[in-house]
Amino acid sequence: AADVEHLACDVLVIGAGGAGLRAAVEARLAGKSVIVISKSLFGKAHTVMAEGGAAAAMGNVNANDNWQVHFRDTMRGGKFLNNYRMAEIHAQEAPDRIWELETYGALFDRTADGRISQRNFGGHEYPRLAHVGDRTGLELIRTLQQKLVSLQQDDEEAGEPAAKLQVIDETTITELFVEQGAVKGAFGYRRGTGAFMAISAPAIVLATGGIGRSFKVTSNSWEYTGDGHALALRAGASLINMEFIQFHPTGMVWPPSVRGILVTESVRGDGGVLKNAEGKRFMFDYIPEVFKAQYADNPEEADRWYTDPDANRRPPELLPRDEVARAINSEVKAGRGSEHGGVYLDIASRRSAEYITERLPSMYHQFKELADVDITAEPMEVGPTCHYIMGGVEVDAETAASKVTGLYAAGEVSGGMHGSNRLGGNSLSDLLVFGKRAGEFAAEHAAVTEPPKLGDDEIAAAQADALRPFANDGENPYALQAAMQEVNGRLVGIIRRAGELEEALTELAALKPRIDNVTAAGGRAYNPGWHLALDLRNMYLCSVATAMAALERDESRGGHTREDAPGMDPQWRRVNLVASLDGGELALARQDVPSMTPELLGLFETSELSKYMTPEEYRSTEAEDA
Ligand code: FAD
Repeated sequence: AADVEHLACDVLVIGAGGAGLRAAVEARLAGKSVIVISKSLFGKAHTVMAEGGAAAAMGNVNANDNWQVHFRDTMRGGKFLNNYRMAEIHAQEAPDRIWELETYGALFDRTADGRISQRNFGGHEYPRLAHVGDRTGLELIRTLQQKLVSLQQDDEEAGEPAAKLQVIDETTITELFVEQGAVKGAFGYRRGTGAFMAISAPAIVLATGGIGRSFKVTSNSWEYTGDGHALALRAGASLINMEFIQFHPTGMVWPPSVRGILVTESVRGDGGVLKNAEGKRFMFDYIPEVFKAQYADNPEEADRWYTDPDANRRPPELLPRDEVARAINSEVKAGRGSEHGGVYLDIASRRSAEYITERLPSMYHQFKELADVDITAEPMEVGPTCHYIMGGVEVDAETAASKVTGLYAAGEVSGGMHGSNRLGGNSLSDLLVFGKRAGEFAAEHAAVTEPPKLGDDEIAAAQADALRPFANDGENPYALQAAMQEVNGRLVGIIRRAGELEEALTELAALKPRIDNVTAAGGRAYNPGWHLALDLRNMYLCSVATAMAALERDESRGGHTREDAPGMDPQWRRVNLVASLDGGELALARQDVPSMTPELLGLFETSELSKYMTPEEYRSTEAEDA
């Protein structure tokens, strides 16, 4: 492997979104040398696209808010399948992580009395999302980047400012090196030149984000091909909850070139309502039993809530995302959809043009430029889009450590925190809270571990794998990606059935030899076809893990709806499905969902717990109460 660049560091961070950057900051502050790798340009991670805000119970807008209420909302949103300890840590630490960002230079929108403002969002009982207009992610990434730069000050000791905190962008990691159950480095290539790179590191943080590109209609951009999920699997780690995929209710549906692009939930948080082709505000027909106490069943009460939230129930447009996405799906299926197969999202008739352009500037421009729609004057057309995966690397709640020694995961690539459905705004706070923890514990691990050595053979093998598409004589990667997206969209989408999931597994299996034989034309420099050829095997693993788990879980919960098994089953609430590789094949195992502590159970009414849990479980809490 003569033409491979060799690098070494204490903590290698793969991914430069919010989770990766926050981890890098923490590991560097702990005195470790850090390399951050990102597939796309530095600064262009999903985190930058986040619009609505970061959820943190600071209680600035409604003083009743606190971490306990946030915890409760998160568990409800996840239908009680969440790793409760992650949800607890998240709710407790999110406010500190937001305030800390301001010490890095962030500036969130303010309340009239000068505190960090908070906006309403689906599933959150009180206004809770710290935000910067509808460009919150941009501020988050901007300040984390600035913090990173401020830590690149190693001139004197190392002769180079960034010697101990390097950022290498437009570089894709294709393999992790593992020895005796511990990671020791990674292999990748620079996208621009095709040059290879091997990095040795005793601790690695995966922060690679999601899998959205396995679906055709998605809010995710090109680099979200489940690389971190697959790297973890191949390194010997496990993935949990892969059946739970969030279809955001409101993506653009028209014109076709922009189908799937996100329309932020803030439109609804700020007063927008959903209507079908008959002009009916249909969400009142879709309030599930478990949420009837919290959501208004008539427009008058729903509208009063915006000004008097304490005396009224919330509008049903702000139900958790899975509920709203399914409702839209049903309206369209029943023939009451909009012209281009979505429904109408109307804020124009409800708020002044001035209010809309001030609160939702990006949305205004997005529709004006991409669809020639003026959202201050006409409704938007929207429909569900693949947005986020709740499933991911199984991690320890305290340390973000995976099952593989030295391998950590944070942000969207990790699993457990959000249970079966993530609340909006809980991802930005998740990646700050657990990004910090991953960086901290990765640094701690590096401090007590000998610097590893990479062998020539393993590097040569990784290189040969990466070059294989040039020698293959199969199909082009775009055709295969389209085929996989088509299978996932048709058979593993928002509404699922056992027969169709079996069919999906058969069709995916038939794609496997074609993906193994995928061909890349041309040379190594600037070759996106080659890059996609290497991504395909990752998308394949994630797609199969999702379809297998979706078939196994014969109930409907959060981001997994089985038409042939409607309703939640309390027995299934206690089960996590865990995917791992066994001799190269994906295998699925069942694992108990950890039981909440009595203190946390005590935050809920027994009448609510009884909707989710088996009688033994919630009765045991009654006994504790007494
Ligand atoms: P990302 O920010 O996705 O970053 C992943 C990084 O990994 C990137 O740098 C990527 O290049 C890199 N990477 C991937 N694969 C590789 C590889 N093989 N080698 C090297 N690098 C790799 N959440 C909220 O809480 N509030 C919101 O308002 C909100 N709005 C959203 C709006 C949109 C349009 C989208 C798409 C998502 C939104 N989300 C929101 C979700 C949230 O933005 C993401 O879940 C979150 O940013 C993920 O952060 P992350 O750090 O885990 O990964």
